[in-house]
Parts: sequence; C-alpha cells; structure tokens
Amino acid sequence: MRASAVQAESTGAPPPEPLCSRCDAVCCRLTVVLMPEDRVPRHLMVVRNAQGVEVMARNDEGWCAAVDPLHMRCSIYADRPTICRRFAMGAAYCLDIRDTYRTQLQRGIPLTLY
Ligand code: SF4
Repeated sequence: MRASAVQAESTGAPPPEPLCSRCDAVCCRLTVVLMPEDRVPRHLMVVRNAQGVEVMARNDEGWCAAVDPLHMRCSIYADRPTICRRFAMGAAYCLDIRDTYRTQLQRGIPLTLY
C-alpha cells in the first residue's frame, strides 16, 4: 500500500486536496491511448487490439511503463502523450479515480486496471 493513500486511512482525515506532487500517480493507471502526434519511446508503447490502437505499456502493477516507480512521477514528462497533457488535476475524473483507488487500498481490494 502506498504512503499517501494509507495516511488518509490511518488518521480518519478527509483525503487531501489533490496535488500531483503528493499523489501516487493514480491517473497513470488509466489506459493511455496514443495520438499520431505523440512522440514516446517505442519500448514504452504497445499495439493493443485488432484496430491497431497504440497505448502506453504498463508495468506489473498496472502503472504506465513511463512512471518512475521510485518517485511515482512521469519519466517522460516533457514528452508525455497528449491525453496526459489534457488530464486536469482536481477535476471530476481525477477526484473519482483517486477515490476509487483509496477505497480499494483501504479494503484490500485488488486495484482496477482501466
Ligand atoms: S506518459 Fe507519463 S503522465 Fe502519461 S500516464 Fe505515463 S507516466 Fe503518466
């Protein structure tokens, strides 16, 4: 279990205001569909289906292969895909997946792969 998620659980405090700098990179567990204009290293992408949709590869725990696991940050931030650039910190989708992630960790439910 990751530190920031556990913190809210153990204190009973409401979850902290979302900030990328203190998040477990929860959004980096979502499927990242690549656009033609995206320029990411080939070894970090996979062709997902018969339609040839390219997505970012994942590590064994479901995080995007570009996540630096030591710091839970994007290792290709300056060149991150378009969909990642559009993801809004603190917006409804961010809050929703953070809530799901926190709840699953607290209850010992295996994390969802999106
Ligand atoms: S490319 Fe970077 S920002 Fe996008 S999901 Fe992967 S680690 Fe996160």
